[in-house]
Amino acid sequence: MAFMQGLRGVVVGVANEHSIATGIAASLKREGAECLFTHLPGEKNERRTRKALEAIGYTTPWLAPMDAASDEQIDATFARVASEFGTIDFLVHCIAFADKDWLKPDRFAGTPRSVFTTACDISAYTYVAMANRAAPLMTNGGAMIALSYYGSEKAVPGYNVMGVAKAALESSTRYLAMELGSRKIRVNAVSAGPVRTLSAMAVGGFSEILEWVEKKAPLHRNITSEEVGNASAFLLSPLASGITGQVLFVDSGYGIMGL
Ligand code: NAD
Repeated sequence: MAFMQGLRGVVVGVANEHSIATGIAASLKREGAECLFTHLPGEKNERRTRKALEAIGYTTPWLAPMDAASDEQIDATFARVASEFGTIDFLVHCIAFADKDWLKPDRFAGTPRSVFTTACDISAYTYVAMANRAAPLMTNGGAMIALSYYGSEKAVPGYNVMGVAKAALESSTRYLAMELGSRKIRVNAVSAGPVRTLSAMAVGGFSEILEWVEKKAPLHRNITSEEVGNASAFLLSPLASGITGQVLFVDSGYGIMGL
């Protein structure tokens, strides 16, 4: 039997067919979950999200516009979910943002305050903000994941302020897990290896990172969004009932290497 059968949740981050969230949505669908989606406000964004979802079999997806920079829009989304569905079982946070002018090798020390705070706000704080709205809807317990990257732990040239934001995201994962555990809500993160997406292309030297992983990772290849999707579906499912507060690497093993 499909291991997400009968479970419903909110998936944030499907921008186009290359988005990691699209890979996650495909795995969740295959495993029987019901997904509710958000997209950045605007007709063009909605159209792109619909197209990506259609390609993986969501012909009439539930969609809500949501800019995660706005508390009012996060409130409105979860209020709509509450009124139309009552409860949910899972949340997928698959969004990040940093000004790409500051995602270049040798451009960290000069990061302006506003670039730093926006990166941490959109890429880390929003996990806390969404978790806080999703938790009351998880009346039978639940599970959440967010997407991180190795640049949270190690200095990766060009990843810069996004690495700082991912460190905050991973730490938030642990604090959320500690607090929500008594409500039977599990909170984890998936640290994905590099995948060619719109956001990733903003990181200076991204192609070199892909090549380096192929050379150095134990599996000698890059990972796919499908692989991230499968691990994410597992973490959100009852199969992972004993796992919370963790960062699970889906990176061809690159993170274990000492070079
Ligand atoms: P993507 O560009 O497809 O997705 C980024 C998403 O963030 C988009 O859906 C975009 O609409 C959303 N977003 C940005 N600002 C937002 C806001 N204010 N409100 C709501 N949504 C907003 O790129 P992706 O690579 O699929 O990124 C998804 C997640 O995966 C991010 O957290 C990213 O850091 C993480 N990640 C990516 C890689 C990679 O190599 N691609 C590796 C590890 C982790």
